[in-house]
Parts: sequence; C-alpha cells; structure tokens
Amino acid sequence: MAKIHIMDEILSNKIAAGEVVEKCVSVVKELVENSIDAHSTEIKIELIEAGTKQIKVVDNGTGMDEDDALTAFQRHATSKLLDEDDLYRINTLGFRGEALPSIASVSMITLKTCVDNIGTMITINGGKIEKQEKCEARKGTSIEVNKLFYNTPARLKHLNSLNSELSNIIDYINKIALSYPNIKFTLSNNDKVILNTAGDGNLLKVINSIYGIEVAKNMIEVNTSNDDYEINGYISKPIISRANRNHIITLVNGRVVKNNELNKTIVDSYHTYIMEGKFPIVVLNINVDSSLIDVNIHPTKMDIKFSKMDGLKDIISEVINKSLNSTNLIQTIENPKPIISYEQPKVVVQQELELERVEYPKEEIKPLIVEESKNEEYNNEKIEVEKIPELYVCGSVFGTYIVCQNNIGMYLIDQHAAKERINYELYLYKLSNPDNNIIDMLFPITIELPLNEFIIIKEHIDLLKNMNINIEEFGMSSFIIKSHPIWLPKGNEEVAIRKIIDLILTIKTNFSLEKFNDKVAATLACKASIKANDALSIEEMENLIDDLRKCNNPYNCPHGRPTIINFTKYELEKMFKRAI
Ligand code: ZN
Ligand code: ZN
Repeated sequence: MAKIHIMDEILSNKIAAGEVVEKCVSVVKELVENSIDAHSTEIKIELIEAGTKQIKVVDNGTGMDEDDALTAFQRHATSKLLDEDDLYRINTLGFRGEALPSIASVSMITLKTCVDNIGTMITINGGKIEKQEKCEARKGTSIEVNKLFYNTPARLKHLNSLNSELSNIIDYINKIALSYPNIKFTLSNNDKVILNTAGDGNLLKVINSIYGIEVAKNMIEVNTSNDDYEINGYISKPIISRANRNHIITLVNGRVVKNNELNKTIVDSYHTYIMEGKFPIVVLNINVDSSLIDVNIHPTKMDIKFSKMDGLKDIISEVINKSLNSTNLIQTIENPKPIISYEQPKVVVQQELELERVEYPKEEIKPLIVEESKNEEYNNEKIEVEKIPELYVCGSVFGTYIVCQNNIGMYLIDQHAAKERINYELYLYKLSNPDNNIIDMLFPITIELPLNEFIIIKEHIDLLKNMNINIEEFGMSSFIIKSHPIWLPKGNEEVAIRKIIDLILTIKTNFSLEKFNDKVAATLACKASIKANDALSIEEMENLIDDLRKCNNPYNCPHGRPTIINFTKYELEKMFKRAI
C-alpha cells in the first residue's frame, strides 16, 4: 500500500497558509526532514552557490515506489497527518506534504529513489512532470533541486545574499545534526565540506564537529530527571561564551524548539559566571510525555507550552548550578600567543619574587577531581569540592594580580575581583538571612531627596527596614537614618546606604526581591572591595585566597569576570622551550 496519504482538505487548508517556500533553507529543511522520516542514517546535503543554483540531498533511507514518488509531488499529500487530532499530538517532525509540490512548482527537480531494487527517476520542471522512468537501483533517495525560483523572478529577487542564505542553512543543519547524533550529516557548498558528523550517536562529537575541539573540551555533560522530565545534554564552561543566545539549543522529544522562558532559565543559571551580554553554548534534550506539552505549530515556527513549566525550570537551573558548582572552572592559559603579543610589559614587582625561597610542596597536589553526589538528593548549599587548590603566594604584579604557585603551575588572582566575590557572597547571605546585629550611628545621616524620589523611597521603605536599616521620615522630603546592620562595608556605610537608595529608585514594575538583593550585594561588594593598586601584604593575600576558596563560585566576580587564571608549569616550560 502506498505510504503517502492524501490529506484531508480542511486540515491541509489549516496549515497551507504559511507553507511558503521563500528561502533556500526552507527547501533544505523540507528535503532533510523527509530523509529523516525515511529512517536514513546518512544524509548528504550538497549545495551549489549556497543552494541558489542547486540543492542536492542524498539519503540512504527507505525510498519510495513509483506511485509514492509521484504522489509526493501532488498537493495535499502527506505521510504525516491522518486527522485533525494529530495536529495537537505531533511527535514526528511535523506535517508536510504541501512543501514538496510548492518546491517543485518553482524549480527543476530530479528525483531518484528506489524500493525493492526497483529504481525510479522523475524529472519535474516548474511543477510539470517531464520524465518518469526506471533507473539504476541505489538504496535511498536523492533529490536535486535546480534553479530555485527560475520561473518566479519576483521571488528570486527576494533571496538574500549568498552568505546569508548559506548561513541560514548552516544554522539549520547544525541544529538538526545536534538533534540527531545518530545520523551522519555531511553539508557542502561548492564542493567544500562545511560540516561532517560521525553519526555514531555521540552528541559531544557533533558539538566537536560544529564548534571545534576547544569548545568540545570545555563542555560539561548534564543528566537529570524528575517525575515528568528527563534531561540530558551538554553545557559550556563559562570561559566559552558567545555574543548571542543562538547557541542555546533546547530539544523537546528530539525536535529543536525555541522557548524564551527556557532560554531565560538557562541564561539565569549562569548568573555571575558569565559577563552580562555573553551567553553559554548549551544543548539540552528534554524528554517528556507528549500529553504534558501543547504544541502549537505554525509552519514557520513552533511554539510549545509545558503544563509543568515550573518543575521543568527548576530541574534545569538545578542541574546547571550543580554542574558549574562541581567543576573546576579555573581558566588555564594554553595558547601563549595573546600573552606574548602584548607590547613590552612594564613589570612592577611589588613583593620580590623569591621563587627559590618558596618551598615547593613535596607531595603531589591532588588533582581537582570532583566528588559526584551519588544519587543522593542534591544539596544546594554544600558540595565538598576543592575548587581552588593549595597555593603559595609569591608576590604581586601591577599591584593588582597576586602571583601564586604550586607544582601544577603559576596562578594569577585579580585581587579586586576576588575580594568582590567574597563580599558579594557575604552580603547576599546577610540580605537573605537578616540578623539583629545592628549598629547605632554616632551621627545619624539625613538624606534629602527631590520630592518625586522621596515618594518612591517612601513607597519602598520596607525594603530598607527589612535590611535593618533604621530609616524614618524627617521633614518635608528627607529621611533620617540612625542605625544600620553591622555588615555594611566599614567606613563606607553612608555611601552604601545611598547606593541602596539609588537602586530602589531604579526599581521597575516587575520587582523581584531576589534580583534586588543580588544587585545590592554586587554594588556594595564593588564599593567595599580593595581596588587594583591597593598594596597588600603577603599575609593579606593569603587570607584573601583562603576566603575566596570558601566561596560558592570562587572563579568569577559578581560581574562574571574571572578571579583566577592558571599557567600550567608544562605550558611555561613549553614557552621557554624546556619542553616540547
Ligand atoms: Zn568592581
Ligand atoms: Zn566585578
């Protein structure tokens, strides 16, 4: 029996509206998804001139008999949808049946396919079947789409530049390759191979093929589940970041979906690990029973709603936090190029670098192996991991970077960033766990504000009171502050309070106490922390490192900048040609 059914008219009208072939990528998408549906394990996409001259897709899938091959080019043919219900419970690659005839009507197509050792070849020009004959039997299907839009000059004009057509195709093929690590994808343009995946089911290898070894080396595998969702995939270490969210890829039951809420959850989970405006590379597979999702499919995009969204967001942020929290994230400098390309550095050694006199630890430093929390309920507060290894302070350079060593290598710590992190975590803790340790001010501070600002502060006065800042109205448009919590940065108490008031003035309608506290902690931490160029004694440096080591995330300041970087002994030896 023919596998392709003629689709019910109502259904096809429902979806036909948006099914317009506009770009080369829509053709590639249609053909590749057909190949996937045909259970192919190898799909080759060959383009000439970014697909504008030719798009050829060759697969090793099931193939079609002559009847099916002809039906595929008729309108309202689909192998996907049988009744309207299917629209709402789609688990396969969506519905098609409209796109292939549309493509055929605006191009010259040669199709070769084969079933039971009988090969069929069909040639279609502008939608008209020109030739239909037997041909050599080769497993699978090959479709060549030539001269797209040759007969519709108006649409031809609408094609973008070759570069942009190609980049859309690459983007699509990357995503589909990540969705199907079991399928071997080869993409080439003008005979130049752009992507070639192994097709052996290893997602990390696909990531390697797309992003290269540097990225693949810095991915962390994640794996988690709750009663409703099963999640697995890879997230990048914070040192790998991108300028946009494009590389955060979520798949639901094997299909790439774009869901802003999920993206936001992922980005938020990297809060303070990555600088603002930078984004991680993430590939997450979400497996869920299809009864828990509501797929609203529009041919050009797919919108998906999860009925247990909060639970999903929780396990995603939990697994990302846990993974970042249990991984050694010290950035190791391996490529010396950026370092030696600096102009002659003026090294101001503040403490003498008496390397000889610093005792090398005799015993091997334990490698930074992280204890897996085995099946136990994950405890958000404490994972015993040696995040910062034992370090011996040598001195500092530029009055800014503490120089340390151990037998693994040399470490530089940015003293401001480190102190900022320590203070940030302290303040965040104090803000979310207010205690009654307050201090009366010798001289109360009065804060005079323009009337409009006075009104805003008055409205949010509980925020200050809950922090144990004793604030009262004082006259027409001023406040008086008589006591404050003891943890406010010493010597900077007034500045700190004024900063908090400034932050209250920037509050927008979608207020979140958690975010507000976070901002207060980060702002005060910056104010309270030693600056670059503040001279520290060796002992102060050692204390700073000890405090940093106790932090939840010792690797970044609250703004996502690194606190510590590492040059391995081996890399140094390589640079000095002592080792090859
Ligand atoms: Zn700062
Ligand atoms: Zn910072």
